[in-house]
Amino acid sequence: MSEDRRKILVKSTDNKKNVIYKKVQDENNPEISIVIPVFNEEENMNNLSSRLLKTMDDYKHSYEVIFVDDGSIDKTPQMLKTLFNERSDVIRVISFNGNYGQYVAILAGFEHVRGDIIVTLDADLQNLPEEIPSLLDKMKEGYDLVGGYRKERHDNFFRTYASKIINFIRGKVTGIKMKDHGCMLRAYKRYIIDEVVKTRETSTFITALAQKFAGNPIDFPVTHEERKAGNSKYNLYKLIRITFDLMTGFSLAPLQAFTMVGMMISSASLIYFFVEVFKKVIGHHHGFGLHFAFVFLLLSVIILGIGLLGEYLGRAYFAVCAHPRFVIKEILERSKKNKKDIK
Ligand code: UDP
Ligand code: MG
Repeated sequence: MSEDRRKILVKSTDNKKNVIYKKVQDENNPEISIVIPVFNEEENMNNLSSRLLKTMDDYKHSYEVIFVDDGSIDKTPQMLKTLFNERSDVIRVISFNGNYGQYVAILAGFEHVRGDIIVTLDADLQNLPEEIPSLLDKMKEGYDLVGGYRKERHDNFFRTYASKIINFIRGKVTGIKMKDHGCMLRAYKRYIIDEVVKTRETSTFITALAQKFAGNPIDFPVTHEERKAGNSKYNLYKLIRITFDLMTGFSLAPLQAFTMVGMMISSASLIYFFVEVFKKVIGHHHGFGLHFAFVFLLLSVIILGIGLLGEYLGRAYFAVCAHPRFVIKEILERSKKNKKDIK
């Protein structure tokens, strides 16, 4: 990987005839890599690509855009092909053979980036491509991670609050300080992404993981707009899965908390048992309602615990099996080594 990161410098002179070395656009080693996961985004593709390419062309730094097609079944794949044919100088397309999820798509993109700075962005234009330069400029102040947070969210009530709750739990469970792990408009120095790739993580919390590896991160306010086209790909089930991933992916605290609760309930039930025995001895009568409630409570705790154990076991299972996290069907990109192809 490191040889990819050579800078290409050309000698030239400025208007005062001083010799300067300028970095030129080199497709093998762009300065910036933008990774975008896409899943059935035909309504957004044209708008996204024209706005993004215009912004980045104007920014005057070399860049590449890696679209990761997460098994789209609408016109997105053809649109990506057309886009590649039009702008293969900056566009690369990775296509999965099926749908693996937004974060897996981002990870696949991370494994292929060639830039020194990596930016992630969603395809749905809820975050504005036009704001990428301000994140990159912020990075120049010496930060190794600039994480967008949504100043004002424009999602439905359920999505907004679910996300706030998940952010709160993540903060408590993992201790990772960041304002909004769900905001995908973020910029990272390359070494952070290299570390994320090395972990071979499968959890959905890449943003929190990256935050952990960053030495000098900063939260940065970004605009958030309503999704104008297409639908959100998240539902209640996916959000619950994310929360589980988050809790079990970052610490053993839930398992330990469960043991603590188990211990507390066992002590309480032991006391309760003695109280009942005492009542029997002194001849008090009572109904069974409380007993049932108690048994159900105990059962629910046990079932919850088994579920939690299952989560960890499942993680260990996948880690041991080392199943591929995704399967790439096709990569569209200009050949890297053969310079003739690039001309
Ligand atoms: N996405 C994806 N695979 C999926 C779901 C979503 O690649 O299985 C992409 C989607 O195309 C978009 C981004 O991930 O670019 C965020 O998805 P969405 O807007 O549906 O999420 P939300 O904004 O509701 O969090
Ligand atoms: Mg969205």
